[in-house]
Amino acid sequence: MRQLRSSYLPSGGLVIILRVKKLLSKATSLRIILILVLVLFAMLPVIVVCGVIRSAAVSVQMNNLVMDVQNHSLIMSNQLSKGEYFANTDNAVLNSQLVQMANFYNGRAEVIDNTYVIVGDTYVIDKGRYNISELVMKCMSDGTKSFYKRSGWNINIVQPIVSQAEDALSGVLLFSVDAADVEAWNKRVTVIIDIIEIITFIIIAVLSYFVSALLMKPLRKLVGKFKESAKYNVQEDIVVSTYKETRDISDSYNKVLAKLKNLDESRQQFVSNVSHELKTPITSIKILADSLNSQEDVPVELYREFMVDIANEVDRENRIIEDLLSLVRMDKTSNSLNITETKINDLLEALLKQLTPIAAKKNVELILESFRPVVAEVDEMKLTLALSNLVENAIKYNREGGWVKVTLNADHKYFFVKVEDNGIGIPDNEQDKVFDRFYRVDKARSRESGGTGLGLAITQSIVFSHKGDIKLYSKLDEGTTFNVRIPLIYIE
Ligand code: ADP
Repeated sequence: MRQLRSSYLPSGGLVIILRVKKLLSKATSLRIILILVLVLFAMLPVIVVCGVIRSAAVSVQMNNLVMDVQNHSLIMSNQLSKGEYFANTDNAVLNSQLVQMANFYNGRAEVIDNTYVIVGDTYVIDKGRYNISELVMKCMSDGTKSFYKRSGWNINIVQPIVSQAEDALSGVLLFSVDAADVEAWNKRVTVIIDIIEIITFIIIAVLSYFVSALLMKPLRKLVGKFKESAKYNVQEDIVVSTYKETRDISDSYNKVLAKLKNLDESRQQFVSNVSHELKTPITSIKILADSLNSQEDVPVELYREFMVDIANEVDRENRIIEDLLSLVRMDKTSNSLNITETKINDLLEALLKQLTPIAAKKNVELILESFRPVVAEVDEMKLTLALSNLVENAIKYNREGGWVKVTLNADHKYFFVKVEDNGIGIPDNEQDKVFDRFYRVDKARSRESGGTGLGLAITQSIVFSHKGDIKLYSKLDEGTTFNVRIPLIYIE
């Protein structure tokens, strides 16, 4: 049971990866990252330099020792050759020199003849045995120079012994040295270098701590100003231009603040416009009702006339509320359009058919011109509302006997609807404002024709929610053209 449970535990490496992931998933302090990076980059060269110094120091000591032993063993091999050691391996003088040399280096000397038999050994124990180690064989086959091999803190040096009489290799001198002094020296150097590294690390860490605090100061200042601005609702611009980045952040913040201010102002303006627009019909109703109430024996005709006016005002109030509601709905549900593939030619035909009686009443001619069949992904209901606002306006703000021309065209990406009229036109300085909510060029004329001042705002909102565009060209007393461009394929 226990084993089973432990097999589900992640391994050590995995645990570290999971912890690092968890740490990174949390918001990490930029200052800590800065300190780590500074320490890492400053420590890296220190560690490399210290490592190089340590290995260089050890290898110099080791090379000196090898050279020493090699010189010494060369002298010894010459003496062994001169003293014809292989003829008499019990030579007390040569054996005592061998022991002296071995003791001097705290090592062991072996004399091996050319049949690989150990004929002299300062440890005595291997005398008479064979030594066929790699190093000995190498020296025997070469016969002229010395070789050495290092394993850990142990050095083996072989020196050929050449018989002077026959000028032939008579054996080798194998010298094993324990480099205990070099090892001790290496330990001392390591301790000193470790201490230097630790002290350097502490100094670098402390310096990084202060340097990072200095580098982060402008950011802290920026955060402080943001907090102050949020707490006391400060409307002033924030400027921290120590770094390009802090300047960019404060610039962006100021832009957002300005937009929010504008939004707040336009919201207030909108609320006051709504109140005013809703109040106007109610005030009229109140005046009409009061004047009826204040008179005695009011004739039925007058009663009827006033009641018709009251009903008109109620209709007006209704229209404003409906337009307001569709505007609010557009704002709220701009992301949830009911997109379907729609034949735009059919949509326009039906729309114009529906508006024909109103146009006929005003003696305005309606013309539809389609250059090609167009199928597009749109919200049919909303697009109908947007385009009928444009055509209705073109009829409303037209002249007796005027015309309204609706043109449909498309390319590979967009379809274009042009609503053109030869009506009263819009003055140049008013053209930017007609898309604003409740904006009307001629309030009296708009009201007279049942306008609420919200039609173009609704149209623009619908076109934008289809990722399209709407443009207006107008000349006073000559006419107005609205150009609508909408993508054939709806872009999410
Ligand atoms: P309204 O309900 O008053 O028609 P709109 O938002 O539809 O409100 O239009 C805003 C104003 O733009 C209108 O009051 C009118 O003055 C002007 N306008 C809109 N369309 C036309 C047009 N085709 N010709 C002239 N003026 C227009």
